[in-house]
Amino acid sequence: MRYEGPIYRPPSEAGSLLIQATVGCPHNQCTFCMVYKKGPKYRARPAAEVITDLEAARATYGSRVQTFFFPAGNTIAAPTDSLEQIFEAAGRIFPELRRLTVYGSAKYILAKGETDLRRLAAAGLTRVHVGLESGHDRILSDIRKGASRSEQIRAGQLLKTAGIENSTYVMLGIGGKFMSAAHALATATALNEILPEYVRLRTFVPKAGTPLLHKVKKGYFIMAGPHDILRETRLLLENLDAATSLRSDHYTNYIDLSGELPQDKDRLLRQIDEALERPENTFRPFFVGTE
Ligand code: SF4
Repeated sequence: MRYEGPIYRPPSEAGSLLIQATVGCPHNQCTFCMVYKKGPKYRARPAAEVITDLEAARATYGSRVQTFFFPAGNTIAAPTDSLEQIFEAAGRIFPELRRLTVYGSAKYILAKGETDLRRLAAAGLTRVHVGLESGHDRILSDIRKGASRSEQIRAGQLLKTAGIENSTYVMLGIGGKFMSAAHALATATALNEILPEYVRLRTFVPKAGTPLLHKVKKGYFIMAGPHDILRETRLLLENLDAATSLRSDHYTNYIDLSGELPQDKDRLLRQIDEALERPENTFRPFFVGTE
């Protein structure tokens, strides 16, 4: 297998084989993200080259591989013909395959449209990991996510129509201290329309070399503290009506919340209330991320 540039994957894909169909991120503008800021430039690898990697993986790992994640930011943006060939080949070479997933932002999901998404689902794509980050228009614009609230909602609904699972990422604290409540409420109501299979919480940590760290240092962006984040999470959860699996499988979070909604909501709210009793200095300290 050949890899080029930073290789990131969601924690939930820890057991998946990583095969690269694209390099870099075609958007590469989010102000909180440092992953591809130094390159490489986005490109889709030729399908024939990727299929050679799939064959090499079969020869090395055999039937042990049951889930695939195709890394790099926004692999969904690659040409549909090419992705279709790659996904069909993955299913042919690994008949035991149970799950095949990629990263995809709302902007590129919408650009694909229903017909192409249905083709990808038929070719074997089972789940897209989508960075919603926030359901609030001003925050989405400030962080240059490349999609408005309504576009995020439409993209989520499009995945559902195409029969592709949606694993949505919410970034706690991305509105800062003063937009915290607005962020929580707008995000909960957006999720209630998207109805993703998974909601995954991450907490904003400023990353080295990003425009948002610059704003934090200049005092233009006031970070939310541990109790602010817990209250934000509580408000989000209180207003989240979607039936979904909630996960906080990330090192940036102050507490680990995991459960099925709506049935586990009361337990999760109690867990947040207990955490709010702890002094702020007992949570992880502020740090600048370096990866
Ligand atoms: S779309 Fe994803 S990979 Fe690309 S810049 Fe934004 S957060 Fe980073």
